[in-house]
Amino acid sequence: SPAAAAISRNPANGALIATYPFQTPAEVESLLEASAAAFRLWRATAIEERVAAYRRLAGNLRERSSALAALITSEMGKTIGEARAEVEKCAATIDWIAQNGPPLIADEPVAADNDDQIYVSYLPIGTVLAVMPWNFPLWQVVRAAGPIMFSGNGFVLKHAPNVMGSALALQQVYEASGFPKGLFANLNSDNETVARAIEDSRIAAVTLTGSMRAGSAVAATAGKALKKSLLELGGSDAFVVLADADLDLAVKAGIQARFHNAGQVCLAAKRFILEAPIAEEFTRKFVAAASELKVGDPLDPSTDLGPMARFDLRDELHRQVERSVAAGSALLLGGRKIDGPGNFYPPTVLGNVKQGVAAYDEETFGPVAAIVTANDAEQALLLANSSDYGLGGNLWTRDIPRALALARRIETGGVFINGFSASNARIPVGGVKKSGYGRELSHFGLREFTNAQAVWAR
Ligand code: NAP
Repeated sequence: SPAAAAISRNPANGALIATYPFQTPAEVESLLEASAAAFRLWRATAIEERVAAYRRLAGNLRERSSALAALITSEMGKTIGEARAEVEKCAATIDWIAQNGPPLIADEPVAADNDDQIYVSYLPIGTVLAVMPWNFPLWQVVRAAGPIMFSGNGFVLKHAPNVMGSALALQQVYEASGFPKGLFANLNSDNETVARAIEDSRIAAVTLTGSMRAGSAVAATAGKALKKSLLELGGSDAFVVLADADLDLAVKAGIQARFHNAGQVCLAAKRFILEAPIAEEFTRKFVAAASELKVGDPLDPSTDLGPMARFDLRDELHRQVERSVAAGSALLLGGRKIDGPGNFYPPTVLGNVKQGVAAYDEETFGPVAAIVTANDAEQALLLANSSDYGLGGNLWTRDIPRALALARRIETGGVFINGFSASNARIPVGGVKKSGYGRELSHFGLREFTNAQAVWAR
């Protein structure tokens, strides 16, 4: 039977960090009551007060940056430098919302034909339940909670069990920043309890970042209860390099785009689609650069890749590599689990990857790059779009007008030209097709979980 607790284990050495027993039904009940009460307070606070709370939150995140970063690294294995950058990104996003948020959710006047007064208000809807993954234990949460709570909603977090320590630490930062008690709360429970919470009248809507399987289950429960859902699911983003690209820059960005966070990034470049004239040279340089990445202790500042976050996910990734090689892909680098108590997997590059092969058809959530060759830009575009997913994508060429025209034909929620993909407070993030629906961040995120109320006064 599944453990009745969230278990946090250090993937660098397998050591148990902590066990967090699931909440009892009575504790879940009082959490939902407290959330409803906190929401009634928060929805009535003036926007200036919300701004002030956000400023304090950003300050407290920065003040606790070292401790939070160490916790993230111990729970899921990213390098300490990446963990510090994650905390700073959270603080910067909270600052951005405090600075830019108020006009984005202010009443919106509508032109009338006479003296009538018409406008749209963006009103909070209640407490939003958020189901979150472990790959950015703080950032995924702040990316959702930042806009949702600024609009006046409550937030109940069901985090991934292996990062429950980070979840609790984040709740403490919210409480220390003066948000109403219970407005940001952790639900530590199994998925059945999550389903019952979604059905509960004190939960207004649900947002999930995670796999297609989890998204489909949670959205089905929400749909049955007639509640809105937002899904940020996986991706198999194309990194398209055309023949006229700056190859050295593209290789450098491609390494970052694939191996950052040990490859456990939804927006990571996963399929490198190379135009034939440069395919050989790009592959050679990319394999050489990947082979120089240092795998090891995530607390050592010279480390590029720490361990993968969970032992079962490394097994799954390795099976994808084996199935791809069995189906005809070439193993150009890596491809075997690193022995020892830690959960390390080396930078891996697969060549000659084609449609129908695991590394092409499925998301690879770890340090595995798939190299695909295209005859020309048109075929590259076809290949980029031949995926169940539609999250992000990259395009490399020196011809910007052509790139902008091609971008319109890429079926994804974002296209980054001559750079790698990254979410940013100013732009919406989200997907199409099986990468999900709805948008986080920017004015889209601030309005996603609001009641766009039309008011017409004669
Ligand atoms: P996962 O298994 O889907 O887990 C994500 C979260 O969903 C966890 O909190 C998990 O909790 C929960 N969950 C799973 N099944 C559920 C169910 N039936 N009902 C309620 N909750 C459920 O994903 P993962 O393997 O941890 O994370 C990797 C995936 O997340 C990848 O596919 C990645 O692309 C995606 N991701 C997407 C984005 C994005 O922005 N689009 C960002 C990061 C990650 P339990 O473990 O307790 O089941």
